[in-house]
Amino acid sequence: MVNIMVILMIWLYRGLVGLSILLIMIWTSGVITTLITRFFNPLKKLSKEEKVIYLTFDDGMNTHFTPKLLDLLKKENIQASFFMLTSTINGNEDILHRMKNEGHIIGLHGYHHDNQILQLPHMLIRDTKKSLKLFEKQGITVHHSRAPWGHLSLVGYILNKVYNMKPIFWNVIVQDWKKDTTPEILIEKLMRKVQGTAVICMHDGRGKNDAPLKTIKALETCIPKWKEEGYRFETVEKIN
Ligand SMILES: [Zn+2]
Repeated sequence: MVNIMVILMIWLYRGLVGLSILLIMIWTSGVITTLITRFFNPLKKLSKEEKVIYLTFDDGMNTHFTPKLLDLLKKENIQASFFMLTSTINGNEDILHRMKNEGHIIGLHGYHHDNQILQLPHMLIRDTKKSLKLFEKQGITVHHSRAPWGHLSLVGYILNKVYNMKPIFWNVIVQDWKKDTTPEILIEKLMRKVQGTAVICMHDGRGKNDAPLKTIKALETCIPKWKEEGYRFETVEKIN
């Protein structure tokens, strides 16, 4: 009896050690792929001379902010790229179809904004399949993705290949999600950071203190200024 107990204890110990090693391997592989993709981000090499702006928005849809942003983009005759959380589709189908009909690009930003580095492979696979099914139900096929926080795990990288999605990072970010930001701060950052070709990461959902409203307000000022400076606007579809 004692012998059986000892054998069981050893098995349990080995099992726990094995599981810990597996979890550490999954986590470190996610950290490594994130560091590599950040380091080799091709968007860092975009032209400093050619004046092109790719407006990209993450974390939507939001019932209040996204339509306001779409109104502004329509007024300015600009198409943008939306990396959305598919958990927001239910109840916002009309916004999704408006987005599509008005020529914007729709990409995947995850189901719930979970960090891929912390997600076990089967969770990320399940989320991706679920998300793509939700898009499919709305007649939408996505070809672009952006991992939440830009943390692209090895499994995430493989899923992009399997489902024919191109991961898109950014070369300009202005921390528009922060609760204490203001439209003035955002205008200053945007006008200073956008030099040449810029893929700007902004947000139409999730930010604190109505943060997306400040983003929209800042863009109301920046877009006409950029147009005056000779910038043209494209969607991520045009990124080689
Ligand atoms: Zn996000």
